[in-house]
Amino acid sequence: MNKRGKVLIVSGSAGSGKSTVLTPFKSGAIPPFTFSVSATTRQPRPGEVDGRDYLFVTKERFEEMIEKGELIEHTVFNGNYYGTPKAPLVKQIEDGKVVILEIEVDGAEQIMGLFDKSDLISVFLSPPDYKTLEARLRGRGTNTEADILERLERAKVELEFSRLYSNILINYDGRASDVTDAIVRVVNGENVDTLDIHCKSTDALLEKFYE
Ligand code: 5GP
Repeated sequence: MNKRGKVLIVSGSAGSGKSTVLTPFKSGAIPPFTFSVSATTRQPRPGEVDGRDYLFVTKERFEEMIEKGELIEHTVFNGNYYGTPKAPLVKQIEDGKVVILEIEVDGAEQIMGLFDKSDLISVFLSPPDYKTLEARLRGRGTNTEADILERLERAKVELEFSRLYSNILINYDGRASDVTDAIVRVVNGENVDTLDIHCKSTDALLEKFYE
């Protein structure tokens, strides 16, 4: 019989570089990691594939999923529903996978209340500081000024939520692969406290962020 798997929550604000850090896991090249495919009511972005990146559903279908208990957690983010389908997650854990939930802090808090500590690993990913975050958001060139300001504000709130997570990792420019490696090490039960991308507490993170 397979060893029981685990849930790996990875959260991070806009500009934390979360998707770059998680890309190597997406190719399936690092077993036993696998992804949970979330349901959402937001529109697909160019290049996104239904069933792979998200299950793109209508508001009515999403509300039916809530009603029928098909989602293990859900939230509203930026005016759209997002949620984690329960049945595939349970199956993947039973199959011994490490299931990555790339979700925001509200959903993460719900999941943390549902799983045993021994079945759960959580990583909060942060940009190194406010200036870097702002530069990353502006560098995309696709966001309006109002959008950038809103994301900067939300990032402040999200940083506070890092208190809930067992690991805080900092994604410095050009260091995404080190963060990916650190996540693998955390899952393997190795100590990452001495790595320079590891942050020991939310207070230390906040101090560094706004220095
Ligand atoms: P995006 O629209 O940029 O893909 O995602 C917006 C935010 O929703 C990101 O922080 C992402 O991690 C989060 N998210 C994606 N799927 C889920 C989900 O199933 N549940 C929750 N709670 N958040 C999600």
